[in-house]
Formats: sequence, structure tokens, C-alpha cells
Amino acid sequence: VNTHMATAKAAPSRVWATLDLQRDGKEAGYLRVPHSIDGSAYGTIPVPIVRIRNGEGPTALLVAGSHGDEYEGQVGLSRLARLIQPRDLRGCILVLPHLNLPAARAGRRLSPLDEGNLNRLFPGDANGGPTAMLAHYVASVLLPLASVVLDLHSGGCSLDYVGCSLIRATGRADEDAQMKSLARAFGAPICSISDGSGGGGATTLSAAAQALGIPALTTELGGGSGLSRLGVRLAEEGTLRLLHHVGILREEPAFAAGPVRFMEVPARDAYIYAAIDGIFEPVVEVGATVAGDALGGFIHPLPDADPVPVSISRSGLIGCRRAIALTKEGDCLFKILTDVAP
Ligand SMILES: [Zn+2]
Repeated sequence: VNTHMATAKAAPSRVWATLDLQRDGKEAGYLRVPHSIDGSAYGTIPVPIVRIRNGEGPTALLVAGSHGDEYEGQVGLSRLARLIQPRDLRGCILVLPHLNLPAARAGRRLSPLDEGNLNRLFPGDANGGPTAMLAHYVASVLLPLASVVLDLHSGGCSLDYVGCSLIRATGRADEDAQMKSLARAFGAPICSISDGSGGGGATTLSAAAQALGIPALTTELGGGSGLSRLGVRLAEEGTLRLLHHVGILREEPAFAAGPVRFMEVPARDAYIYAAIDGIFEPVVEVGATVAGDALGGFIHPLPDADPVPVSISRSGLIGCRRAIALTKEGDCLFKILTDVAP
């Protein structure tokens, strides 16, 4: 019935790579995303990509900068792309340290070119705006080459996040066990398991990967507009441990992973939203444990009026917290994680 949709989905990508994605050796190049504008009729956006391959073996797709204001993964993957040599590997890694390059250059979550949120646009659109075209290229060209996907995120400008990995449970025991083993190998101290109903639903890179049967691990490695040194270290060491775990990195990294605490967002009410506009004054730290009806902070209305307390009705761990003081009704202030029943 909906032939237009079917045609759009099957349309070939207009993005192209300046390098052979499957050749042996190490090569850096670009994905060229067409961007025809007033001052550049035949212009393109050059998105950096590095291929490092040594013979047959699995292929890992390593992505950061899907949101431009999340820096730990961008710095970590850039460094690994410089360090890793083909002889270190069996198989291939495709590294995209700044996937949404225009957003990264602008220090923004969304692309300044089309306001596109790359990790909410999968499986993308071959003939859409630059951000949708990029998502479509990743989904239609890169994912079919991948045996595992690692997508490094952080809280970005608006959220401070506890260092964690995230997996979307499929309900299929073998696939879920495989993703849990990726989380253990990566070694973030917390792994948050979702059913996909939270942030991005089916529109994320990990959802697109899993739709093709490819195991995917996402991370949150810091937040605010800064760069967490601990988060960068976790990005680098965790990525190396994961690459060894899946049989791509030959030598076992010297830095072992610590234990991983498996947690989940228990229900919709584990997201605490602002009830009014104003200045948000938090009184609990990210990573802290709260019990009962805890006081999370206050919102001070503008102009001056009595502050309104923010109550956290769920017991659990503060997984993330709003990082920007100025707040609007409906903004997410906290997300609470609880331990997964053993
Ligand atoms: Zn993100």
C-alpha cells in the first residue's frame, strides 16, 4: 500500500566513502555527505572515518559524536584510531569519532544544518536532510558490514551522567546474554538495561543494529559541556577490552574490567520532570542512592516566589541529573536506576 515508503527505504545512499571499507591495512578518509547550499552548489560535509583491517575476522563499528556535545567518546576513539595498527588486529575496525561532524563543530546535540538529532533518525532517509542521509548511510552501508557496534555517548550539555553502558534487551535469551557479555567486557561500573521504551525507541543506532541481528553496546561517559578524564579513560580502555572480547584485538589489554552492576529504569515514573519553569537547584549528586520520597532539589520560579521542592518518588540510584540550572516545565531533572533482580 505504502509504496512511497518502501521505495524511500530501498533508495541507494547519496553519501559515499573516499576509502575502500573492506581493504587490508590502515586508511583514513571521509564519508562525503552532499550538502548543496547557496555558497556551495556541489558542497559536501566530510565526516572522518578510519578503517584498520588485518585479514578475515569480525568487524567492529566504533562510533562517537553522534551527538556533537558529548566529548569523551570523540576524544577516546580519535586517540585509538591513531594508536591501533593492522598488526594489532584480526578482522577490521571502522572508526567514526565525530559522526555528526557539523554538530560536533557547533558543540551541539543537534546538527546546526537541519536541526537533526542523529540518534533519533534511524534508519534514516536516503533523500532527507544531511543528518537523515548520514543515518541512512550508517544503517544501509556500514551496519551490514558490522558484526558488533559500539556507540559512545555522554550526557551532553543538558545532563550529567553516571559512567555506564546501556543495552536494549531483545527478550531473546542468547542475544541478551551476548550483549551483557559486551557490557562486562567494556567494564563501565554500571550497565543500564532498557526495553527500548525510554529515550529513543526504534530510532537509535543500537536499535537499527539490533534489527539486523547485530549486538550493540551504547555508553554514557560523562556530561555537562566538559570532558571527564575518567570518561575518556573508560572510552579507551573499555573499547580495547571489548575489541579483545569479540576476537578482533589480538592481545589482551593489561587493564582488567571491574565488576558491572546491572540496573534498569524500573518504570516511566523513574524519570522526574520539572513541574514549573525556574532555576533548578539540585541537592543530590549523580551516582547517589535515594530512598523513599527523597528531596531531589528545588525549582526557584522567576520572578521571585517560594521555591518548589522536587520530590523523587522512586528509590534507587541517580543515573543522571539535569546539568543546566535554567529549567522549563517538562525538562527531565533526574533518571533513577534500580538493581535488576538477580
Ligand atoms: Zn548522546
